Amino acid sequence: SIVVTGATGHLGRLVVDALLDRGVPAAGIAAVVRDKQKAAGLAALGVELRIADYSHPETLADAFEAGDRVLLVSGSEVGRRVPQHTAVISAAKAAGVAQLAYTSVLGGPDADFDLAAEHRITERLILDAGLPYTLLRNGWYTENYTENLAPVLEHGAVVANAGEGRVASAARADYAAAAAAVLTQEGHLGTAYELSGDTAWSLAEYAAEVARQSGKAIAYTNVPAETHLAILTGAGVPEAFAAILVDVDKAIERGRLARTSGDLARLIGRPTTPLAYTVAQALQRL
Ligand code: NDP
Repeated sequence: SIVVTGATGHLGRLVVDALLDRGVPAAGIAAVVRDKQKAAGLAALGVELRIADYSHPETLADAFEAGDRVLLVSGSEVGRRVPQHTAVISAAKAAGVAQLAYTSVLGGPDADFDLAAEHRITERLILDAGLPYTLLRNGWYTENYTENLAPVLEHGAVVANAGEGRVASAARADYAAAAAAVLTQEGHLGTAYELSGDTAWSLAEYAAEVARQSGKAIAYTNVPAETHLAILTGAGVPEAFAAILVDVDKAIERGRLARTSGDLARLIGRPTTPLAYTVAQALQRL
């Protein structure tokens, strides 16, 4: 089977859709999920459910079968992901999977910011396990920004500490289509792809795009890191997560998320989704 972990999450679900779009029959897809209720929609499609939790290695014993082509969607519990991914990789190795694809971070070993640390370690674990692998080094989702448009419109400001740094983001659906490509085609083993949007934009350009489409005055307000941290925690963002966001902005300022290799457009056979399109979608939903 083609196995997608995190299939009840945003990206995983889009990967299942992309596999179906490529003509993979639902019965040939297995979804590794920790919450069966949340996976009712997947089950209704005819996708096989395999219930497992990255944090409970024993539950992963039946998650994979010999010959499976597996996408490990990196976990969302920052700080716990090394033991979690270790357990998934061990289970995949024990089962004898034919491919382990992993959603890593743009830059891989060169990504020098806090959020990237667990990805760097996971890449190393996959290589050390000797599994047939494909590394999908995903850049930023445009939705990281557009899912937070409400406060931007309310305050008329995009607040960040990213300076003039640029972000080569793409839509989640673009990264999902790339994952579906490497899981269904031959020739992707032993390869690391640097996946990012075709165009790198600055936060000033993002603010201008939101202003253009919403008809409201929106400014980019670049603030010092400590000020941004205080604003985020003041708005109720937990301190540890706020610190990660501020560190990401510093990485953006250093150009770490601006790389445009063209790998993503090549894998999906079309240009990546433009920023303007994802902004328009988000504004319609508000
Ligand atoms: P989501 O939070 O929507 O999905 C994460 C998925 O991982 C969910 O299905 C979740 O299960 C599953 N998961 C988390 N912990 C466990 C666990 N212990 N056992 C089993 N399953 C688990 O994130 P996205 O789909 O948007 O993104 C996918 C991943 O990409 C994230 O998890 C994160 O690692 C990374 N990411 C990348 C970003 C980028 O811009 N490139 C931005 C944000 C995250 P459940 O549905 O039950 O919660």
